[in-house]
Amino acid sequence: MSETVVFTPGERRVFRRKERITTSQWAERHRVVTNGPMTGRWRNEVTPYLRGPMDTICEPFVRRIILMFAPQTGKTQVAFNFISHMIDQDPGPMMYVMPDEKVTKRIARRRIIPMFRGTPRIAELLGPGVSDTTTLAVQFQNGCDFMMAWATSAAEISSESIKYLIRDELDKFPDFSGKEADPLALTEIRTNAYPYTKKIIDMSTPADESGYIGRVVETEADELRRYHVRCPLCQATQVMHFGQFAWPKACHDPREIVRKRLAEYQCEACGMLWDDHKRDLAVRSGFWQAENPVDRPQVVAFHLPSWYSPFVSLSSVVAAYLRGLEDPSKLMIYVTQHKAEVWKETVLPKKESGVLERKTSLPGGVVPSAAIALTAGIDVQKEGFWFVVRAWAEDLTSWLVQYGYLMSFPDVETLLYQTRYPIEGGGATMGIWRAGMDTGGGLTDDNEWTRTEEIYQWIRRQQPGRVYGTKGATHRQLQRIRVTMIDKLPRSKKPIPGGLELRLLDTDQFKGLLHWRLERKEGETQRFFLHGDTGIDYAKQLLAEELCRDRRGKVYWKKIRKDNHMIDCECIAAACADSEWLPSLKMLAAWLKDKKTPGGQAHAKRRTISGGVD
Ligand SMILES: [Zn+2]
Repeated sequence: MSETVVFTPGERRVFRRKERITTSQWAERHRVVTNGPMTGRWRNEVTPYLRGPMDTICEPFVRRIILMFAPQTGKTQVAFNFISHMIDQDPGPMMYVMPDEKVTKRIARRRIIPMFRGTPRIAELLGPGVSDTTTLAVQFQNGCDFMMAWATSAAEISSESIKYLIRDELDKFPDFSGKEADPLALTEIRTNAYPYTKKIIDMSTPADESGYIGRVVETEADELRRYHVRCPLCQATQVMHFGQFAWPKACHDPREIVRKRLAEYQCEACGMLWDDHKRDLAVRSGFWQAENPVDRPQVVAFHLPSWYSPFVSLSSVVAAYLRGLEDPSKLMIYVTQHKAEVWKETVLPKKESGVLERKTSLPGGVVPSAAIALTAGIDVQKEGFWFVVRAWAEDLTSWLVQYGYLMSFPDVETLLYQTRYPIEGGGATMGIWRAGMDTGGGLTDDNEWTRTEEIYQWIRRQQPGRVYGTKGATHRQLQRIRVTMIDKLPRSKKPIPGGLELRLLDTDQFKGLLHWRLERKEGETQRFFLHGDTGIDYAKQLLAEELCRDRRGKVYWKKIRKDNHMIDCECIAAACADSEWLPSLKMLAAWLKDKKTPGGQAHAKRRTISGGVD
């Protein structure tokens, strides 16, 4: 017999016995979670729905899984457990791709490298060279190469082939236009050397229709699986739908729902109500099932709304839903972040005659008695100014009071400081509380730039707190309104002493909001009315833009008529009353109530906050 072969520790690791186990089993044995709500040893029972995707990716015939999951469901752990499992058991070149450089570096530093270090089974494969925590490439001692990249760099980073490809936050991957291939095709091509052994994990919370995840689920998945839970009381299995949520019908306040944990889930079969704990039990004995199962699927998609997650309370789901009823941008949050569905922007087509049905019997120039403040939106032209004046109730129901055209700055000043509109049914009058003027900054036309400087200088001369400069944002913003400071004039670059505050408006969001308000019905908040003298010219301008979709499904507003000034004016007037413009109209309403109460503290502040409600 030959002498005993002595392996070095490194060789022992290389020849480490392969365990014939799935990723979820490997994770339960070896994975240590280093951050998030569940630090310590990995336990599959905490997020039972992650077991299905982890084991599916290990099936020999499965090449790719797609996770369209709500946030806070732990979906990233599917990828983390899988890469750890492969580093340990089936090493091969792997790439983890994120949307941009910043998030890639952050996730490497804060999550992936700490995970490698915190999981002993992986840590012992790390070479001594991995002291630099910002590293975007790790070579393990068993020869496994791990690389991180972002969507635009992934194509160049390496000419090598990749066996394991993870694409995280797919819907934040940038747009690719023109001649370039999209980043999905560019990264996927790297896996071609492993046609029968490659594994791809795509995951994302969905966003709008221009994102990738909804399309890959629809066009590339062989199967779409949904999670079925088991009622802890009657044992019936079911997919959880929002329609089964229950909460006291009288309660519309999202904060109260969350604070008092008022939401429950009603079993479809026995009608019993589950609280969060029973929901967790139902999820724990659940399973994934395809809608239309196929034999040996290669690409399997999984869809998971937030309400399956132990980290999301049933009440927070209902709160998000209720917030969405009052605000289309919050409805988008509910749809994407809770239902985990793609947001489809829709606007019902309207006719001028339909718009004019919003006319009331009040003549122009009269303020309805329910109104608490007036706002004005002013759109600057080469010569004069288009404007609207709109009256607002506390629930953001609003009425057009006046619209028209002004010739000069003095005319605008008269509108802002001298004009008092009679209030319906009594001798009181109301002046404009807040006005916004579009500064048109950013246009390349020379004349327009001159006008912008003129407007800036005019605004700086105005009394503080009445009229503000606004500007349409060039990119979609998270918020509808963002405050920015300008310290130089745009063309002459002359400094502006003390700076000038500008409000950047996401006008696309305001246009959507305007159409949404036009569709509000009796009994709902935020209804949109016109005065009795409103003409067809106003209605034509209001409908001068249409919601369109580009090839990728991205929506944009297209001008279908030249004159669209009323849309711009109405968006600015709406911005002035928006909850994101502080102090907001709702704060004004609270202040007015306080003023009416004897001993209210607000009286002294009257001049600064109120536009002169007498
Ligand atoms: Zn039941």
